[in-house]
Amino acid sequence: MSIRLRLTLWFSGLLALMMIAFGFLVYYVVSLNTMQELKGRLQDEAKALEPYISPNRNGIGFDLGISVPRDFDYNMIGIQVVSYLQDREGTVSRKSFAYGTDLAYPAKKDAKSRYTKVHMDGSPFYVFETPITLTGSTEIVGLLQVAGYIGKEESMLLLLRTILVLTGVAALLVAFMLGMFLSRKALQPIEQVTAAAERIQSGSDLSTRIPGDSQDEIGRLRSTLNHMLERLETAYKGLEESNIAQRRFVSDASHELRTPLTTIRGNVDFLAKVWEGAHGEKSQALTTEEREQLSKEAIHDIADEARRMSRLVNDLLALARADAGSDVPMERLSLRPLAEEAARRAAFLPRNAEWIVGPLEALDGVWVKGNRDYLLQLLFIFIENGFKYTPSGEVRLEAVRSEDRVGLVVADTGIGMSKEEVPHIFDRFYRADESRGKTSGTGLGLSIAKWIADMHNASLEVRTKLGEGSRFFVWFPVDFSEPAEYDIIEPTERPRLPEREES
Ligand code: ADP
Repeated sequence: MSIRLRLTLWFSGLLALMMIAFGFLVYYVVSLNTMQELKGRLQDEAKALEPYISPNRNGIGFDLGISVPRDFDYNMIGIQVVSYLQDREGTVSRKSFAYGTDLAYPAKKDAKSRYTKVHMDGSPFYVFETPITLTGSTEIVGLLQVAGYIGKEESMLLLLRTILVLTGVAALLVAFMLGMFLSRKALQPIEQVTAAAERIQSGSDLSTRIPGDSQDEIGRLRSTLNHMLERLETAYKGLEESNIAQRRFVSDASHELRTPLTTIRGNVDFLAKVWEGAHGEKSQALTTEEREQLSKEAIHDIADEARRMSRLVNDLLALARADAGSDVPMERLSLRPLAEEAARRAAFLPRNAEWIVGPLEALDGVWVKGNRDYLLQLLFIFIENGFKYTPSGEVRLEAVRSEDRVGLVVADTGIGMSKEEVPHIFDRFYRADESRGKTSGTGLGLSIAKWIADMHNASLEVRTKLGEGSRFFVWFPVDFSEPAEYDIIEPTERPRLPEREES
């Protein structure tokens, strides 16, 4: 059964109950009132007639007579007087007087004041009967019956009953139809919502929303569904994007791995050819020194590419583990010793630029919760890049403080970057055209740095100018307004990175 029909039936049922109760009440009150008035009149009449009843003694009791004055105003239809006489066989009763009526009467022992309803010649009457006693005695000698016609009242009550039933039925019919109409109107928005949801479910377009602007319960349902759709769409888009990114990552990775492998295979083939020739015809073309020279170059190339490959594989592994979200132990770390350690080790890196360690006082007393190895790796990615992209000049490590954060800065006076390149440098496998071919690299360093920064709740900032140099900042949020013990930065849970192998 549909909700619409159920609602209508409920409402109509309730209305029917209320109308039945109301009808009964009205009918009861009206009939009680009408009959009460009639009963009162009958009783008054009986009282008025009583003084005119005269007992005539005979051998077996009192024969009652009634002599009503001429001018007596008869309100009632019938009057009857019954005498209870005592003969040898027992009590006999007899009608002493009857006016306009012929009423049945009770035996002496049953005589008492009461009302009864009788039908005479098919017409309804109400009869009031009251026992008659002699003055100063309780002995019942007769009975006075006064009858009143109640046909008018009965037909009035019948009319009232008919009106009540008919209006009740009509009202119920109207209420049912109105209920059907109103519930359809009330449920229409739900049907719209259902239809829209079905359309969305059967189609593949998650950007569709359920239309409407009402603020009622249906409006809330609609906006909840729309929010749900929005979240579904975002999640679906995210999934799609991550799928695309994953596919691009795999294809980029295989491409990057193929390049060094091709070089290695080429050099191995070349070496084979060079040394095959030593015992054949072509051997005459190359001297042993030339052969050794060529072999050295080939082996050097192979070693370079093998190193590049090993670094690439390590970086790939690092990112894959980061994506998988492995756990990294975090501890309370003081930033100053960490920066000093990075500075000390950086001095041994191959470089053309000068290595300068600037003021690190800003880090004094600053503690963060983090992983020492990962933070060192992050600094090394910046420092190595600094050296790589600074053919001459200087690379500097320093610390700065702003309102609510401390920053470690790796600044160089190298080749710098153009405005167009900067948005991409944290993308996996991105290498600016300028860097390709000129410097060795995987294009993964800065994406790893970003993962490490995210893991520590730190933010990265780059300031650079083409041809003038770059500055890479890693900012740690610190609340300087609190005492020292509150300087600890709680990072959010992030996928963890394994250590990056230095080349
Ligand atoms: P890689 O250095 O292995 O190429 P990265 O992810 O570390 O990969 O860097 C991405 C790109 O950002 C680099 O190829 C380079 O073009 C640019 N880049 C990074 N650091 C610097 C820097 N200090 N100066 C100039 N360009 C840089």
